[in-house]
Amino acid sequence: MASLIMIFGATGDLAKRKLFPSLYRLFERGKLSERFAVIGVGRRTLSNDEFQKSVKESVSAALGEKQDIEQFVNHFYYQSHDVADSSSYAALRKLADEIDEHYQLDGNRIFYLAMAPEFFGPIALHLKSDGLTDVKGYKRLVIEKPFGHDLESAKELNKQIRTAFSEEEIYRIDHYLGKEMVRNIEVIRFANAIFEPLWNNRYISNIQVTSSESLGVEERGRYYESSGALRDMLQNHMLQMVALLAMEPPISLTTDEIRSEKVRVFRSLRTIKGEEVKNYFVRGQYDAGTINGNQVPKYRDEPMVDQESNTETFVAGKVMIDNFRWAGVPFYIRTGKRMETKSTKIVIQFKDIPMNLYYQPEKMLNPNLLVIHIQPEEGITLHLNAKHAGGHLDAQTVKLSFSNTGTNAMNTPEGYEKLLYDCMRGDATNFTHWDEVAYSWAFVDKISNVWANEKADFPNYASGTMGPEAADKLLEKDGFFWWPVADLDVDTCK
Ligand code: NAP
Repeated sequence: MASLIMIFGATGDLAKRKLFPSLYRLFERGKLSERFAVIGVGRRTLSNDEFQKSVKESVSAALGEKQDIEQFVNHFYYQSHDVADSSSYAALRKLADEIDEHYQLDGNRIFYLAMAPEFFGPIALHLKSDGLTDVKGYKRLVIEKPFGHDLESAKELNKQIRTAFSEEEIYRIDHYLGKEMVRNIEVIRFANAIFEPLWNNRYISNIQVTSSESLGVEERGRYYESSGALRDMLQNHMLQMVALLAMEPPISLTTDEIRSEKVRVFRSLRTIKGEEVKNYFVRGQYDAGTINGNQVPKYRDEPMVDQESNTETFVAGKVMIDNFRWAGVPFYIRTGKRMETKSTKIVIQFKDIPMNLYYQPEKMLNPNLLVIHIQPEEGITLHLNAKHAGGHLDAQTVKLSFSNTGTNAMNTPEGYEKLLYDCMRGDATNFTHWDEVAYSWAFVDKISNVWANEKADFPNYASGTMGPEAADKLLEKDGFFWWPVADLDVDTCK
């Protein structure tokens, strides 16, 4: 699979922490042929040797010392290039053509934009106008989030990149779609006779998706101030997980079939707007508090954050999918920073059995739950009721668990590794199609428009908690509650 990978932003954080180690893992596993090369592009001046040294350092920081590292980094070249400066694309093209010739890369090119989003459109336009996309092989554009700031800006960006690349050539990264257990949702649903017949509004009472972080905004205050949890997490990662949970079985596992089923979910999202927003969505911003015994500041005291900031660091919502399968089933989603724990989990709560023979006044039977652990644990747990050993007929919850960590972890590729490999193979299934982006922005814009015009009563949750009280009330009024994340951890089989 010969290819030239051009990484724009090769001196940045993403390239160092994720892309170089992921490329090394592909190399180590024999998934990169000898016919590959990387051109790193950044603004600062570096020699090839200096660049190769920084690649070595990122690989050893992530994966430890590697014997064949020299062999790997020999394929790396650096070009200092200001992407805003039109004149420097000619030199980049010359270097790319020489390397193509040297490694016999058949003109296959991947352009990976690991840079601030305002550069995405201009780079794509230059790649075309300066001839870098005039190749006899394939050309693919990999683009990081955020894809726009709202529907209008996303449309504008899409228009720009579509002048140089067709939709099939655009790989919009949603790194959640690289996660092992997110990819597993489809298999759990469609490869098991016991789940699919129950996967509808007759048997499922609600679905909860939580993605919590204990970290605060760290150094990203400037970016986060113009984004917030709704745009940073919900528009992309959270809604992508909802789509995978809710989609109809595709007629085959091709990219087009899977994407079209996901798009149908996005089309069925109930539009929440105006006055209704407060009944369906809750926003929060963290106050000071304690995490792992350490005092942490409030969001408004973080670097590059406005003292009066109206930006949400937490969002919880009730998403309704108005189609035949899901009518009446709420999908509750929540995500935030500085929460009690770092965890991404999905809980599928089944309806209560029609008549409870084992009811004891002080002890209700728990509903059956299927828990999908996305991170940091990876696995699935099924909560059943069974007889208490030795007792009479008292029922207790037992958990049947599968933990990926125990069996496959050593070989589990990191998300970016899988996504890079998919891109090289031309498999766009786990990247977001423009239609998904457009529908999800249309959904989110209605909420952000309301929030932008109303000053929030922030801060409204202490760091180290699971968000504001209003997020609990959102479920309480429907007769549900958030399943406590700590009680759901993968246990060994009981
Ligand atoms: P970063 O650390 O700020 O790196 C920015 C890169 O862009 C640097 O290599 C910088 O080169 C280069 N650059 C800036 N202006 C340039 C110009 N005019 N011409 C050429 N190069 C220029 O950013 P990052 O954290 O890696 O993030 C990159 C992208 O990935 C963003 O879209 C971000 O939202 C997305 N992302 C990042 C992460 C993450 O974990 N970091 C996760 C998900 C998504 P110099 O340093 O030489 O100026």
